[in-house]
Amino acid sequence: MILVLVETDRDGVMLTSREALSFARTLGEGLADHDVEAVVVGPLAEELRPLVVRHLGEQAVAVMHHADDERLTSYGAAAWAASVVDVASSNSARLVIASGTPRGNEVTAHVATRLDILMAANVIAVDSVEPLTVSRQVMGGGVFEEMRLEGAVAALTVAGHAVDPTPAGEPTDPEVRAYTPVLTDADLLTRVVRTEAAEAEGTSALTSARVVVGAGRGAGGADGFDDLLELTDLLGGALGVSRVVTSLGWRPHHEQVGQTGSRISPDLYVACGISGAIQHWAGCQSAKTILAINTDADAPMVTKAHYAVIGDLHEVVPAINAELKLRLA
Ligand code: FAD
Repeated sequence: MILVLVETDRDGVMLTSREALSFARTLGEGLADHDVEAVVVGPLAEELRPLVVRHLGEQAVAVMHHADDERLTSYGAAAWAASVVDVASSNSARLVIASGTPRGNEVTAHVATRLDILMAANVIAVDSVEPLTVSRQVMGGGVFEEMRLEGAVAALTVAGHAVDPTPAGEPTDPEVRAYTPVLTDADLLTRVVRTEAAEAEGTSALTSARVVVGAGRGAGGADGFDDLLELTDLLGGALGVSRVVTSLGWRPHHEQVGQTGSRISPDLYVACGISGAIQHWAGCQSAKTILAINTDADAPMVTKAHYAVIGDLHEVVPAINAELKLRLA
């Protein structure tokens, strides 16, 4: 059996978990014992439960194991891992899979340690089933690594958006098995005690924008963004920035692009005054067309971009804006 840790939100099974379920189903086609079962940790609101079960059925899940336990209301990696290990051990899971979200990666690492098995994080493809060999993203997606997972049991997480969450041809009606996991006091020591709502603007505009204007240290300061914001406006896009910009407090964190920010895949990314460090590149490399504006012709962003203008962004961007205004008038 393949056991998938499923994360939920108020819309049911999260997209990244549905991707992990699709991945598990495809992987299972190459295994003798290919049933996919899901584990959901923590109580579910009454109205959410049928939605979660339906989403699992769409992914042909045979059984939903539900750790329906008040002690698991707030997230804690050790307690979640103990809950997953309970099911994996008592059902002889061949594989434990989760999505490559912060929670998925954290819990799976705990699970692998508790079961003393190998784990591969951020997997994008299975190259062979016997022996299990996978390709995975490392260094924020800048490099791919092939990894062989020896042993009868293994754990892996699936990189976000590496696979489509394709529903199964024949949906199932999953059997729901509620259980109370064995949790020690130590398992419950570390848990989330407070959450804060995201800033009003959020990141959705950035991640779904067809045009993103990027700004880095080259903006020069918190007051150096007027022309860049005007360009963003003229192109009907969103502003994305480098980590230097957010670390210096020039712009809010939700605008950050990169390994520790948002991953974007717009039709056009105009990267202004951004060197193109690997951690930034990890977040923007999926852009279909990249235009770099930079004073340094050798900056990695310039050498990797499809087009580049070598010059001071404070001269180039106003010139582009003036031309756009003429054309849009
Ligand atoms: P710099 O590297 O200083 O580059 C500034 C660029 O602007 C240079 O190329 C320069 O030639 C050009 N320039 C200067 N003046 C002008 C001008 N007037 N006109 C035009 N061009 C000009 N970074 C991210 O962006 N996102 C992340 O998610 C991220 N995560 C990280 C995670 C870790 C664990 C670590 C260690 C680092 C991370 N970083 C991230 C930081 C990253 O390594 C770089 O330090 C950062 O991306 C550099 O930002 P920058 O390009 O704005 O600044």
